[in-house]
Amino acid sequence: TVELESEVNERRRAENRLRYLALHDALTGLPNRNLLQQRIRDALELASGTDRQVAVLFIDLDRFKTINDSLGHHVGDALLKKVAHRLTAALRSDDTVARIGGDEFVIVAPVGDGEERATGIAEKILAALHPSFRIDRHELFVTPSIGICLFPRDGSTVDSLMRNADTAMYQAKAAGRNTYCYFQPAMNAAADNYFQIESNLRRAIERDEFEVHYQPIVAVQGGHPEALEALVRWRHPTQGLVPPGQFITVAEESGLIGQIGTLVLRSACRQVREWLDAGYRPPRIAINLSPIQFRDPDLIGDIVCVVEEFALTPDHIELEITETALMQDGELTLTTLDRLSKLGFKLSVDDFGTGYSSLAYLKRFPVDTLKIDRSFITDMTENDDDRAIVTAILALAHSLRLSVIAEGVETKAQFAALASLGCDQAQGYLISRPVPASDIAAR
Ligand code: C2E
Ligand code: CA
Ligand code: CA
Repeated sequence: TVELESEVNERRRAENRLRYLALHDALTGLPNRNLLQQRIRDALELASGTDRQVAVLFIDLDRFKTINDSLGHHVGDALLKKVAHRLTAALRSDDTVARIGGDEFVIVAPVGDGEERATGIAEKILAALHPSFRIDRHELFVTPSIGICLFPRDGSTVDSLMRNADTAMYQAKAAGRNTYCYFQPAMNAAADNYFQIESNLRRAIERDEFEVHYQPIVAVQGGHPEALEALVRWRHPTQGLVPPGQFITVAEESGLIGQIGTLVLRSACRQVREWLDAGYRPPRIAINLSPIQFRDPDLIGDIVCVVEEFALTPDHIELEITETALMQDGELTLTTLDRLSKLGFKLSVDDFGTGYSSLAYLKRFPVDTLKIDRSFITDMTENDDDRAIVTAILALAHSLRLSVIAEGVETKAQFAALASLGCDQAQGYLISRPVPASDIAAR
């Protein structure tokens, strides 16, 4: 029992560390994008239904890249730390400042009514960064461009607020830098684009313009295919093959994702049927499910219906659901997953590491596999934190008897590192890009 206790403690430590790493930026110690999203969500929850507002300020340092490139990374890093420090010092304790990328910072602040306090924050930031920074022998001047938007006026979701603050930040850059700009709906030329994509998508569904490509997922030991992930593409009549990144969000927001999801599933099932009839034994097909599809009470019936239409069984199919989708609306998701799992569908958690779920929480869900997000794999051979995250995820996943897929494996060095850490499966350009079914050598 002493042993067990120390094992439990160790596991708790590993989990705490994983959690900390998953929520903070290693360089500055500020909250990262994950924690930021959480904080915005919390702030929106507190403010909604009241007459208070929430300001989201998007800050980009002007010409930071020049400093970084000309004076070296260690000067750039030192500068970012000092900037982080001044930003934190300029704010109130219930405001959040996060670093979400190279030289990009975001502030979330509950504000009373009107723009007064948001403007006050922007002015304070400009003032705080005005004095020069001394790093080594250098005296450096940095100025920020700041985009501001307000909840609920400019957006009601984390995504739309971040997007609109980002748009406004570009406006501030265009206005000559070292200044701030409020978001204005007219800035969204992108919005026109949105409606255009939506109406084109409707037509694409009618005309059956979607294609499914397949990317193999292989065993790290032995290299044999374990599954094929189905990835949708849009064969646009004039634009050629459009990747899902350019239309999935619109499909989700406009409610078209359900129909597209069914098209993908049917296409994949038809393909499996073809392979089986030709005497091949194709591996499982992994199908991506959007969080939106989980809210559809017909989801399970639809999936079962398609699988049966092609005389397949659930063990031919694996369903991928993103970590963030799992975290939303836990109970509903849980019952849906339970039913799917009881029917015999394998379930995996996609983009793992980008949300902020603890593995203990994951234990509640009947999932079989975790897919470690590409962002951790990309840097794991150079960045110790990313390697530590991958190591911790593997250890904890295995203790829960989950198998682990590394996504986005591009180099032999990454593959070798994953093999030495005991990762079960790998997927990525190193093994194969997503390809049309005709390029898959089914056996
Ligand atoms: P995902 O589920 O994380 O899929 C993996 C994405 O990473 C794919 O992009 C794949 O082409 C890309 N990828 C794979 N290996 C590598 C690599 O080694 N390096 C790099 N840089 N990228 C790699 P893709 O096909 O553009 O799909 C993007 C996202 O669109 C998917 O991310 C998924 O979230 C969504 N998606 C694709 N098909 C469907 C679908 O049928 N339904 C739903 N709901 N979403 C889909
Ligand atoms: Ca996926
Ligand atoms: Ca993924």
